[in-house]
Amino acid sequence: MSATPLITIPARKGKAAFVAEGQHVKVVNTHGQQVVDTWAFRRDDMTEFMSMEHSRTAIGRTMPSLGQSMVTNHRRPILTLVEDTSGGIHDTLLAACDRYRYELLGCTEYHDNCTDNLAAALAELGLMPPETPSPWNLFMNIPVGPDRSLSFEPPVSGPGDYVFLRAEMDCVVAFSACPQDIVPINGVDCVPTEAHFQVV
Ligand SMILES: [Zn+2]
Repeated sequence: MSATPLITIPARKGKAAFVAEGQHVKVVNTHGQQVVDTWAFRRDDMTEFMSMEHSRTAIGRTMPSLGQSMVTNHRRPILTLVEDTSGGIHDTLLAACDRYRYELLGCTEYHDNCTDNLAAALAELGLMPPETPSPWNLFMNIPVGPDRSLSFEPPVSGPGDYVFLRAEMDCVVAFSACPQDIVPINGVDCVPTEAHFQVV
């Protein structure tokens, strides 16, 4: 099976790639504690995209088990979770971070954010997102408590852990190494790092 080289998702930045139906994407948490916001859009009509709210209906859970498929806003499978060495904890509940999130956290100057990273990553391919769908936040650990409260915890993954996803349609996938450095979702040190992916 041919594979592209390992592609870097730079720390605090985004990266996108085309993936054909039947190909796989391996997303590697290189340093172990980095959240990777993940999007997938149908290649020939980007208004169809992986949707967290539609996926939760399809899988009947807040995050997929092995073999389950995330679906689009047209309820068609787009990415299937084939393998996962990271502990299986990936958030589907939270929106991508954006300038407004950082302003609310007290930032007075520009802060890198996943929303802008998605747009920049797609722009490198000559594409523009129709909107910023809620991302699949790989490795993000947002437990729901018995009282349904949320907490923001460090990932349970370790260096080199990865997820292996199968594309169920021709799509463009985009990733953002989340630049969150105020809330400890990227590890207790709050230091965002690079991550990597590979199309196989
Ligand atoms: Zn983010």
